[in-house]
Amino acid sequence: MTILLNADLHCHSTVSDGTLTPEDLAARAHANGVQLWALTDHDEIGGQHRAIAAAHALGLDYLTGVEISVSFLHATVHIVGLGFDADDAQLHQGLAETRGGRGGRAQEIARQLAQVGICDAYEGALRHAGNPELISRTHFARFLVETGVCSDTPEVFRRYLTEGHPGYVPHQWAALGDAVRWIREAGGMAVIAHPARYRFSPTEEYALFSEFKGHGGQGVEVVTGSHAPSEYPVYAAMAQEFGLAASRGSDFHSPGESHTDLGGLPDLPGQLTPVWELLEHRILRAPQAAVTPSVH
Ligand code: AMP
Ligand code: MN
Ligand code: MN
Ligand code: MN
Repeated sequence: MTILLNADLHCHSTVSDGTLTPEDLAARAHANGVQLWALTDHDEIGGQHRAIAAAHALGLDYLTGVEISVSFLHATVHIVGLGFDADDAQLHQGLAETRGGRGGRAQEIARQLAQVGICDAYEGALRHAGNPELISRTHFARFLVETGVCSDTPEVFRRYLTEGHPGYVPHQWAALGDAVRWIREAGGMAVIAHPARYRFSPTEEYALFSEFKGHGGQGVEVVTGSHAPSEYPVYAAMAQEFGLAASRGSDFHSPGESHTDLGGLPDLPGQLTPVWELLEHRILRAPQAAVTPSVH
């Protein structure tokens, strides 16, 4: 399989903090020329069977996906899982525990926002959440834009919901070793999501990559909609240094919010091993269209 495959292995549906259903995402991926797709909702794999069915109905090959929230050092890190068994009991249990604290956290976010005069934010955010178990800061961001408090999502995350601003609630997510183990023991591959986003020092970043590798992690996102193009070569070099396969994904959330569309990324740099090469045996191939003999 080629490195030039139009693979998009990171995006979000209404099952987490995207605005399109798994079916609408499959149609959009297909229309945009994606050849291998994965839906990677935050801390939730409830959309996987819908995504598989929708992809296969369109003739689109599929890898199961998830994006797990992890606490590492002082930061939240995201670990993408690809190619696991979507019915694995340990993975389901681990994800249920990881998202379990979201309701209480959301209440606390709303309490802080109320202190600066923004009322009813919990109810407002919940209205935007397609899955009430997966209420996230993105849903608060949509509420703050809807009510005119901020003009767009980037402004929300500059003024609210982040460290030092109202609505920032530190949270304990999964441990790195647990997230990698759940994915691996379900037959999948763990991938560090958008590494440039964590603002780690070089020492901290080295710790993340080496501990991840030590736990059995095998991949890193190199070409992602969450990185600037100038960051691609930096993480291509990290992939080579740590012997990690490279992934590619838009991190698409919504037509109105995401600047990178499904399937809209450049190819991986040529010297890398794409994750889909190592996951060949885990790809859920679309059934071939029946060949009907032509009648003369
Ligand atoms: P949570 O898992 O509730 O902490 O929400 C995290 C989500 O918020 C991410 O997956 C992004 O979708 C969104 N997010 C975080 N920071 C930003 C940002 N600076 N700009 C836009 N969206 C962001
Ligand atoms: Mn998100
Ligand atoms: Mn992420
Ligand atoms: Mn994401």
